[in-house]
This record gives sequence, C-alpha cells and structure tokens, in this order.
Amino acid sequence: MNQLKNGKFVISFCTACNKKIWPPYEYCPACYRRTLTVTAGKLGRIVEYSRSWLEETEIIVGLIDMGGILLLGSISGGRGIAVGASVELIATGATSDGKIHFHFKTLDRVDSYTMIK
Ligand SMILES: [Zn+2]
Repeated sequence: MNQLKNGKFVISFCTACNKKIWPPYEYCPACYRRTLTVTAGKLGRIVEYSRSWLEETEIIVGLIDMGGILLLGSISGGRGIAVGASVELIATGATSDGKIHFHFKTLDRVDSYTMIK
C-alpha cells in the first residue's frame, strides 16, 4: 500500500496466466503460482460513470478499465467525460480507514469516443 501513497499504481502479474491481478496477491488466484509485482500503466478507459453532488461540488465516479483490470475512482475533466473516453490515473491514495482511492482525469483526445461495446 505504500506504493499507492507515493502515487505509483502497483499490481500483481501472473506470468503463467499472463494476467494482471488487482488487488495485488502474492499468489495467482487462478493457478496459485507466485505473482510478480509490477507497476501498471496509468492510462485507462471509462466503462461507466455517474455524476452526483456532494454539497455544492459535483462528484463524478467511474469504472475504469485499466487494460484488463477494473478500478472505481473519481474523474475530473469536465466535458471529456464519456463512456469509452481515455483517462489517466493521476492520483492514488488511501483513506485513514484503509480504503484505496483513485483519481483520474480525462485526456484531450477526439478519437477517444470509439472502442468498447
Ligand atoms: Zn496464474
């Protein structure tokens, strides 16, 4: 969890299954071999999102596909937020009760509305 606090997103990887594993486990849940700890890429794609309001602040929470693993996090970026849009993981952290928090921002790309379905 320390890596998350430092802003790195670390996952496990099973070389036998060729699978990314989140949250990280020492052993692959599919084949029980030892996994490797790897730093994952920071780019993902919005699978779903919803908007809600916390007092006066709009909160956008989305499910992000990070190349095979799904993360739930908050998204900023205004108009660029759409299903299929590309996002970048810009912050990770843990709350005092141990919950992991992810924050994404949209990338300014016009071609990002394709894919998925
Ligand atoms: Zn495996």
